[in-house]
Amino acid sequence: MYDIIIIGSGPAGLTAALYARRAEKSVLVIEKETFGGQITHSPRVENYPGFEEISGSELGERLLSQAMAQGAEIEFDTVVGITGEPGAYTVKCESCEKTAKSVIIATGSKHRTLGLSGEECYTGDGISYCAVCDGAFYRDKTVAIIGGGNTALQEANMLADIATKVYVIQNLAFFTGEKNLVSRLDSRDNVEAILSTVVTDIIGGDGFRGIKIKNTESGDTRELYIDGMFVAIGQVPENEPFKNQVNLNGYGYIEAGEDCVPTGAEAGIFVAGDCRTKAIRQVTTATADGAVAALAACRFVDSIK
Ligand SMILES: Cc1cc2nc3c(=O)[nH]c(=O)nc-3n(C[C@H](O)[C@H](O)[C@H](O)COP(=O)(O)OP(=O)(O)OC[C@H]3O[C@@H](n4cnc5c(N)ncnc54)[C@H](O)[C@@H]3O)c2cc1C
Repeated sequence: MYDIIIIGSGPAGLTAALYARRAEKSVLVIEKETFGGQITHSPRVENYPGFEEISGSELGERLLSQAMAQGAEIEFDTVVGITGEPGAYTVKCESCEKTAKSVIIATGSKHRTLGLSGEECYTGDGISYCAVCDGAFYRDKTVAIIGGGNTALQEANMLADIATKVYVIQNLAFFTGEKNLVSRLDSRDNVEAILSTVVTDIIGGDGFRGIKIKNTESGDTRELYIDGMFVAIGQVPENEPFKNQVNLNGYGYIEAGEDCVPTGAEAGIFVAGDCRTKAIRQVTTATADGAVAALAACRFVDSIK
């Protein structure tokens, strides 16, 4: 039995692993997709203290190797649920079961889809949710990025280096991302902002061909023939497997305060990072949660010895 099992290897989970190992607890981190979490999709991180600029994938690798160097064990599997009682929890995965005295849920969130018919069918073949991963396939092509927050603007800037033309389509009349990202985009000749506009349909057939868009103020519609569409309209949590252990709010986030103790949870279950209710979802706030949750879990483990 491990002292602590951590579900998710993003900045929150790996920081929790680091702190728990430094307190000499046995630690297993279980990850279902990408070691390092969603920050690995970011081309450039400029707001993590200590690094003027670092790629998300390098930051993810550093977090992982630091936790492993301290002796954290890492497994690749998908957690489907937690059962048991304080001091003796079973973490059920798709291919195995592991036991621990305490569990930290650090499952973050994943990309939101537009919910359009055909979206799933063209994903990976004209539609992408990660410009860092797929941008290179669109060299000298025409693409659209949907969204107007920091992620969309960062990705649009990156795509402008690769593609011939980049449309940035935002449902609001303004961008919500940081001003310096907006001005960087303004200075690009091959970027066209289309504001107050939503995507209503995908134009397909024999492959992805483009999108139909609608201006929300005038009601005007238009067909846009493009080679690729990148969707960057935010994140949704993945907390369904834990809904019997913790309270979820209306958006699916685990209800918890800065102490990382979920409401409605039994003793010994903690939550860290983007998967919980919080005002700001960033690497800094995720790592802070990782430390808080780990130290709380360590105290719990010590209390039942
Ligand atoms: C494109 C992009 C750019 C960003 N840029 C910045 C930036 O510049 N600065 C900044 O501070 N933040 C940025 N962010 C936000 C930042 O990445 C997140 O706030 C941070 O990663 C949250 O960390 P986390 O550990 O809580 O969750 P995540 O990073 O989401 O990690 C959670 C991990 O849990 C895993 N998981 C989920 N469910 C299960 C399960 N059932 N079983 C096993 N594993 C599971 C997931 O696969 C994932 O790896 C960006 C995000 C994106 C997508």
